[in-house]
Amino acid sequence: MNVMRRAHNKPFKNSIDCLVISYKNEKEDILEKLIITTALTGNVPTKKMNPSLPVTPDEIARDVRRCADAGSALFHVHARDAEEKPSLDAEIFKDIVRHIKKTAPEVIIQLSTGARAGKDWEDRAFPVRLLPEMGSFTTGSNNLPGIIYENSPQFIEFLAKVFGETGVKPEIEVFETGMINNAVFLQKKGILQGPLHFDFVLGAPGSMPGSVKNLLFLTESIPADATWTVAGIGRHEIPLATAAILLGGHVRVGLEDNLTLPDGSPASNVTLVETIVRIAGELGREIATPEEAREILGLPAENKDRILKMV
Ligand code: ZN
Repeated sequence: MNVMRRAHNKPFKNSIDCLVISYKNEKEDILEKLIITTALTGNVPTKKMNPSLPVTPDEIARDVRRCADAGSALFHVHARDAEEKPSLDAEIFKDIVRHIKKTAPEVIIQLSTGARAGKDWEDRAFPVRLLPEMGSFTTGSNNLPGIIYENSPQFIEFLAKVFGETGVKPEIEVFETGMINNAVFLQKKGILQGPLHFDFVLGAPGSMPGSVKNLLFLTESIPADATWTVAGIGRHEIPLATAAILLGGHVRVGLEDNLTLPDGSPASNVTLVETIVRIAGELGREIATPEEAREILGLPAENKDRILKMV
């Protein structure tokens, strides 16, 4: 307090005062606000593995509301059928969207185009054709536990064109480095519009390990105007999120990627979001509202509710 008062009313008495003042003026050193994405359900977890997993449209929407109140702006959404199995059923997706828009109209919805629910190209593109603000887009193939996550060059170009035609912003899911190059290639061909937004998925068995060194390498490998978030799998989730908070990136947490808190107790989507908000608070990083997240990601305001006409 004394230093502040002197700074405003009197000339600097010593160099310490000067330093304090100059730090307070370094606005460019302040990191942009943190976008917290919640990956609510995914394809793999079951209620048996974690009872708080949201599966039905109603459960998903209620979890979105709670996580939005805790500080999450963006929601990565998968659909499940009545038996909890991954589904690309159009009616289930529509029902989930209607529930979310009713309960939390302000949040950003990102629908999944993942392959576990089906391999048909048009089925996988359907969530993008519903015109959400964002869709996930994996620009390469890799091994995941028990399966090959298959995205052929032909399918990738097909799906990129759907993103291009619809104006839905893709979140490029990167499981290994080549997937960055594939996305940049599609941008150079004019199929994907920049700035690109990447999600580094690290620590899944079969793909890049979840080290801070790998995260740093990936952040240095994307175009200068790109934005990025990190999804650490399992026990890597909170440590990599913490690294992203410090590095100026964004964070994805949620039961799709991780079922436990760092102490090993069962997590819920809300407690994972709360953990990130607490860490970001300790580190002085402010949390982005959905509106601020739209600005950071370059999402056009006119696209916010296009999906309502489709569902
Ligand atoms: Zn997903």
